[in-house]
Amino acid sequence: MNNIDEIKNRLDIVDVISESVKLRRSGKNYTGFCPFHANTRTPAFVVFPDTGTWRCFGECNEGGDIFRFVMKKEGIDFKEALKMLANRAGIQLEPLTPQKIERNERADLLRKILEEAVVFYRHQLLKTDEGLKARSYLQEKRGIKPGTEEAWGLGYAPNSWDAVLNHFKRKGYTVRDIIDAGLLTEKDDGKVYDRFRHRLMIPIREMSGKIAGFGGRVLNPNDVPKFINSPQSILFNKSAIMFGLDKARKAIRSANQAVIVEGYFDVIVPHQEGFENLVSPMGTALAETQMRLLKRFTRRFVMALDPDAAGQKATIRGLEVARGALDHEGDLVFNARGLLHYESRLKADLRVSTLPDNLDPDEIVLRNHDEWKTIIENAQPIIYHVLETLVEGQDIDDPRVKSTIASQVLPLVKDIASPIERDAYRQYIARTLKVDERSLMETSVSNPIKRRKKQKIKGQPSINPPLQAARTSEQENINRIEKEILAFLSIEPEHKYKIDRFLRSNDLSQISLNDFKHTENTEIARIIFDSLSQDKQDPIDYINVHVDLSNFTTEFSHPPLPEDNEKKENAKIRKLEEAARLVMQVRQINTNQEIKELRFLQTDRIDQGNDKSVDKTLQIHMVELIKKRGLLDRALAKPVSID
Ligand SMILES: [Zn+2]
Repeated sequence: MNNIDEIKNRLDIVDVISESVKLRRSGKNYTGFCPFHANTRTPAFVVFPDTGTWRCFGECNEGGDIFRFVMKKEGIDFKEALKMLANRAGIQLEPLTPQKIERNERADLLRKILEEAVVFYRHQLLKTDEGLKARSYLQEKRGIKPGTEEAWGLGYAPNSWDAVLNHFKRKGYTVRDIIDAGLLTEKDDGKVYDRFRHRLMIPIREMSGKIAGFGGRVLNPNDVPKFINSPQSILFNKSAIMFGLDKARKAIRSANQAVIVEGYFDVIVPHQEGFENLVSPMGTALAETQMRLLKRFTRRFVMALDPDAAGQKATIRGLEVARGALDHEGDLVFNARGLLHYESRLKADLRVSTLPDNLDPDEIVLRNHDEWKTIIENAQPIIYHVLETLVEGQDIDDPRVKSTIASQVLPLVKDIASPIERDAYRQYIARTLKVDERSLMETSVSNPIKRRKKQKIKGQPSINPPLQAARTSEQENINRIEKEILAFLSIEPEHKYKIDRFLRSNDLSQISLNDFKHTENTEIARIIFDSLSQDKQDPIDYINVHVDLSNFTTEFSHPPLPEDNEKKENAKIRKLEEAARLVMQVRQINTNQEIKELRFLQTDRIDQGNDKSVDKTLQIHMVELIKKRGLLDRALAKPVSID
């Protein structure tokens, strides 16, 4: 993920905009008076947390992402906005050094090896005697169906010291490559052997689906350890990966809840049975980076952990890690809610489920779906567990003990959104600690939350954070198409004129900066357009002087053109036509999006009881959009032909 994507993911657009615009929540979105034009009676400015965008449907008739807002609001250029928002998101901006490029290339190679290892381990599972035994274990003992096994890429590592070593050597990889991919273990004397032997192999993937490593589970119950993971490497950073998130994120978002379980099968089996919003921190306590990943999809968490003492300690440790991170992040005074800091945690809902009969989540789900549902629905605020653990073995008649425990638990009460629930928990704590409830109210006055509140930026309205801050895959799609168009134009800038002529012949406007909704792309487009309106340099030289596209163009495949001159010309024209088609395609997506957004604003106004006459401008706007969409639909329905 590049810095710009990372900034967009970490910062909450509602947070940033609400510092200068008073926003009112309306369903998933927020409306307010546009800060860029003189306000009329009705708000025409809307923020869409789902897409991470804003739009003014009034006089300005423009919109964009978080960068465009800050640039416009502060009157600064992209570079300054990038610095400002990176600082706010706690991201260090680093230029792409040759070392970094080399590292990226290395990571790509290692990932390729791991993907081939998935195939190798699958083959072992399906085609060898030992593998078939492992497979029947999966099916009979763990309830894993063949389709599930395939979807998760489960495999079998043969009981051999050199099967993997030889397999990959034969494929032409060096021993160093195979070690770095995490598939071999290297002894001090330089001898190497297969890291995973006679184990069930579970591919571990990043949120994006890219492979990062493997988890290997024993088949022979006497083998130790029960689980071996890939070693820490440039691909595998255990504390930054949530197992299953690549497959669970959609469900987490739609359920608005993430269930955190301990093991791999605790994720895989429930997923198979229709409970898809489960992830696992892979046997360790939750790490800060893992929480940050999850927070993009929901702020409601249930930890479904083992009922034994170890499980409970892990729960508390996880909570402590999260809180430690929060305090640390809270030092960024700029931040209001988007980041994991104390303030934002107050809005998170963290609960714990205790599992019955010493069973794991996968066992419960297989036993009874409804039972699992009930357990998750009845998850209780983490406060019960913390209090229970803190009280255990302590003399709660000792006033100092009472006070210590109270000061640790009371901040958790603040985490709970509902005042009624808050009162109930305060009563519960009072009963447990045998103190007067009022004394607990007083203790809470001096807790760190109050101090932090004073640091809040003045005039910032208090609104709930959006539950889904991350951008949708549609936004990713738009971003990709924009970049494809730019990749083409940066190589053939003068072809812009040909595309413009084609667009105009279809009653469409020429390519403009407005075609690029992601500000980083707008900036590159600006340079390309500038290259055409200056006459001091060749446009391509101008582009290369003004923007470093070395990283940019490698993101796309530009296959070499054929040698033959005639074929070469044909291939060039096809690329040109493809670029023109992409321009229309991205406009179509954006227009559909805008129609949806405008409909939202119209409905919102009706809900607010505003009279219809005010909405005339919106109606005119809608007619224009629908007309535009009609033209695009028509142009896209036929093959694009440019000569
Ligand atoms: Zn406006």
